Amino acid sequence: MHPFALSRADDLAKAIAAHAMDGQVAFIAGGTDLLGLMKDRAALPERLLDINGLPDLARIEALPDGGLRIGALARMSEVAADMEVRRRFPVIAESLLFAASGQLRNMASIGGNLMQRTRCAYFRDDDAPPCNKRSPGSGCSARHGLNRNHAILGWSDACVATNPSDVAVAFAALDAIVHVRGLSGERSISFADFHRLPDSAPERDTVLGRGDLIVAVEVPARAEGRASHYLKVRDRESYEFALVSVAAAVAVDGKHIRSARLAMGGVAHKPWRLAAAESALRGVPLDDVDVLSAAIAQSFADARPLAHNRFKVELAKRAALRALQVAGGRK
Ligand SMILES: Cc1cc2nc3c(=O)[nH]c(=O)nc-3n(C[C@H](O)[C@H](O)[C@H](O)COP(=O)(O)OP(=O)(O)OC[C@H]3O[C@@H](n4cnc5c(N)ncnc54)[C@H](O)[C@@H]3O)c2cc1C
Ligand code: SF4
Repeated sequence: MHPFALSRADDLAKAIAAHAMDGQVAFIAGGTDLLGLMKDRAALPERLLDINGLPDLARIEALPDGGLRIGALARMSEVAADMEVRRRFPVIAESLLFAASGQLRNMASIGGNLMQRTRCAYFRDDDAPPCNKRSPGSGCSARHGLNRNHAILGWSDACVATNPSDVAVAFAALDAIVHVRGLSGERSISFADFHRLPDSAPERDTVLGRGDLIVAVEVPARAEGRASHYLKVRDRESYEFALVSVAAAVAVDGKHIRSARLAMGGVAHKPWRLAAAESALRGVPLDDVDVLSAAIAQSFADARPLAHNRFKVELAKRAALRALQVAGGRK
């Protein structure tokens, strides 16, 4: 095991300064991803700064306007069980309940979940095969290797990995806002801009830099919030990452869709919003499967499956249709 020093932070500003000034410091919350990465030698920080003692970061607040503010240190299990989360945004609670295992959800924080790294097996292999995310410039073993679990949209030759977070897909569909504290104060990042596509720098998963600490995620009130659903398709029903997943939320007028929100996991380096489908679904009857399917297909016109994951294109379309129908049934 890689040796490291552990200290506990009790002051937000000091924790941020320590992280900004020392490239060997890593924040640790639940440790459920970071410690695995250290065992796989995919992350080798010399100093871990435990942020669990920082005040006021674990609160889950139901905002008076119908939105939510979820502290970065709130545990996945607490958020999934919160009555207001379940009532206002079932898609968030479901995305968390389908993620990891009970024990992991008790430890794992929302901030850590958004920062978790890809499950690409080459990236996590401690024999360190070529991987641009782990070792920039070394190549991508998955591009022409085993890529069944990899991306079908938005990938580059430098990296074809997918983002593994489930709750990030729900946050993307709902246009959540990530509140980040850095050396120059607090800033808000729209969820669409938080995670990155790989382009030529796949080693960077998000737009955060040194000294940036997620303090909370805010979910604004949404007309589509209550009629929402998270559907996850995976290789086994006990804990497993998504092959594809869908967060769907709709507002309806009678039988017709007034507005729809759709985001997918397991298909790209970041949660993938189905923008073309959302536009095409406006005014469509919820029970017209052919028209719904045609609208969803518009978001896959640019899909570029790899050698082993062509099946994901059809699976993703069917999953999106099913999630939309279940969400619509909750109106
Ligand atoms: C077996 C297994 C199965 C899993 N299955 C799923 C699944 O199906 N779906 C899913 O979504 N996830 C799954 N996970 C991942 C799990 O949800 C994450 O490991 C967890 O959410 C990470 O949270 P943490 O608090 O433990 O983060 P840590 O491991 O403590 O930290 C992870 C990263 O986030 C950084 N970090 C932590 N908090 C902050 C903050 N506030 N601001 C900035 N950076 C921060 C750390 O520095 C580190 O880089 C699984 C994990 C395991 C081990
Ligand atoms: S897909 Fe990305 S993470 Fe996986 S081997 Fe290629 S560069 Fe590494």
